[in-house]
Amino acid sequence: MPRRKTGLKQGKPLQRKTEMPRGAGLKREANPPAKKSSGQAKTNRGLDPLKAQARRRDGDRCVKCGVHLYGGGNVHHRRNRGLGGSSKANVISNLITLCGTPLTLCHGEVTLKPEKCDAFGNGWRLSTNGTSNPATEPVLVEWLGWALPLADGTWQAIDAREVA
Ligand SMILES: [Zn+2]
Repeated sequence: MPRRKTGLKQGKPLQRKTEMPRGAGLKREANPPAKKSSGQAKTNRGLDPLKAQARRRDGDRCVKCGVHLYGGGNVHHRRNRGLGGSSKANVISNLITLCGTPLTLCHGEVTLKPEKCDAFGNGWRLSTNGTSNPATEPVLVEWLGWALPLADGTWQAIDAREVA
């Protein structure tokens, strides 16, 4: 076995002999382009954070009948999102938790038979052509009585006499 002619020089740091071209290292996009939002932000679980907030405020209960939903039911828009109501629809005050679906149980009744349960009178629905603010339109909440859905995501129980 031939002897190595040049021994390893100890203590000499390794040095690169050629310049490393700029940008040849790890490539990383400084600011990846933000994904286009289609109106409302979604969490990574695909849940609308405002709806999740409404459900927390309502203790995962149906505002109309008080039943516990265990993640079921629906969060309902008091003022419809369409028909010109969209700008005021996506606020916490406009959302209430209801059991069922838009076709069944309380949500179905509020949506399909509002006159039967006085959905407008009880604040579970708001007229789309009104100019009122959902935060100042009281809601009949099963466990609170009349209450205002404040913009900070809480209920403020009010005296029934304040309800016109
Ligand atoms: Zn219900």
